[in-house]
Amino acid sequence: MKHDIVIVGGGVPGLTLALALAQSTSLSVAVLEARDCVRLFKRDARVSAITQASKRIFKKLGVWSAIHAQAIQSFTRIECWDEAGNEIDFHCETLAMSALGYIVENQAIQFVLQEALQSYCTAQIFYSTKLIALHEKEDAIMLSTDTGQVFHAKLVVAADGAMSFVRERAQIILDKKDYNEEAIVATITTTAMHEQIARQCFLKTGPVALLPLSDSYRTSLVWTLPTAEAKQYMDLKPDDFCKALTCVFSKRFSEVVVVEGRQSFRLCKQQAQQCVKPRIALLGDALHTVHPLAGQGMNMGLLDAAALFEIIHTAIAHHRDFGSHAVLRRYARWRKADNFPMSVGIDWIKQLFAANTPVISLVRVSGLQILNRFPTIKNYFARYAVGERNGLPKLAQ
Ligand SMILES: Cc1cc2nc3c(=O)[nH]c(=O)nc-3n(C[C@H](O)[C@H](O)[C@H](O)COP(=O)(O)OP(=O)(O)OC[C@H]3O[C@@H](n4cnc5c(N)ncnc54)[C@H](O)[C@@H]3O)c2cc1C
Repeated sequence: MKHDIVIVGGGVPGLTLALALAQSTSLSVAVLEARDCVRLFKRDARVSAITQASKRIFKKLGVWSAIHAQAIQSFTRIECWDEAGNEIDFHCETLAMSALGYIVENQAIQFVLQEALQSYCTAQIFYSTKLIALHEKEDAIMLSTDTGQVFHAKLVVAADGAMSFVRERAQIILDKKDYNEEAIVATITTTAMHEQIARQCFLKTGPVALLPLSDSYRTSLVWTLPTAEAKQYMDLKPDDFCKALTCVFSKRFSEVVVVEGRQSFRLCKQQAQQCVKPRIALLGDALHTVHPLAGQGMNMGLLDAAALFEIIHTAIAHHRDFGSHAVLRRYARWRKADNFPMSVGIDWIKQLFAANTPVISLVRVSGLQILNRFPTIKNYFARYAVGERNGLPKLAQ
């Protein structure tokens, strides 16, 4: 089968690119997805904090209202503190925004994007279809799947996640830093209402975040722990797990009474050394993974998708080969300029709160004091994190 573009991986960034291409170009697009389609959307503990920039992408693609109709919760405040009582918070009013971001279940976004793609005959998703071989040729890439199908594409987009098969087969080297930590993700019920506040407590063992869900008494937990401890906490009985969480949050927020759907994820910082090769472009977790403490991984992937769409769209308008290295290099430079500071910044925050040497503690406390004393600086960083910054793709503006 011949296609202009094959996107490997039907996660949120991959499907977003497919929808943008289907809506604004006549290119034939195939999405290969190893898993089955997300059927009637069902509850899932995996959620993402979506920034205003990501919301604008979904709005411009005409799917925001459908996403909003699923389980979604805006948050208007972020409160962070450490065990020594140092704290910082961010309010949407001080940034002149209606919300700092939105908590959405990942599957809800996938479901809406899948449904939206059905209206376009130029784009097709091949579910339960895993890429198993890739051969690079000068003017096309040949892809074979475990279903026995063979695809030929002028451009292959690797949207196949942190363990990207495309990246590996294209012999792109990966820089990897293992945090030796896992994030326990779950949905919890508290006795107090969350009041649309996202909370994060930086413990010596790692950050614990509570993200508000559409039910006022339910929040999504992301608890980072050293690997061995994470395993112990995963094995705890639900009541004991709730007690451990109550110890962290009772003074600042609430008692935790129910925990559901515990899953754990190994945490690494990854960066592919090359973002593109002739006829191959990486995006999302295939290109980079970051620590979840700032809730940016999915948002970075969505900006990758929006930028790649714009580069392809412009290339077509100028009758250029959108799979050529010269065109794809523009995408690589653009995303590096945006992804690099974000990725390094998140890693610094992680180090700053993880280390407890006197010097680093002093830097941390002084840094928080400066940010609290100078709201202009604090608001600059907050606006940057929620996607109010220069150089974004048109879809995200
Ligand atoms: C604990 C945790 C909390 C997080 N919280 C946030 C948050 O609040 N905000 C945020 O922005 N980000 C967050 N993230 C990051 C976010 O979840 C990821 O960045 C995002 O899901 C990456 O999407 P992706 O499509 O690139 O990869 P994935 O979601 O991994 O999707 C890759 C897809 O490719 C498919 N695939 C893989 N290999 C093949 C193959 N060979 N053939 C065909 N298909 C294949 C897979 O089945 C999968 O569907 C969090 C991450 C973690 C671990």
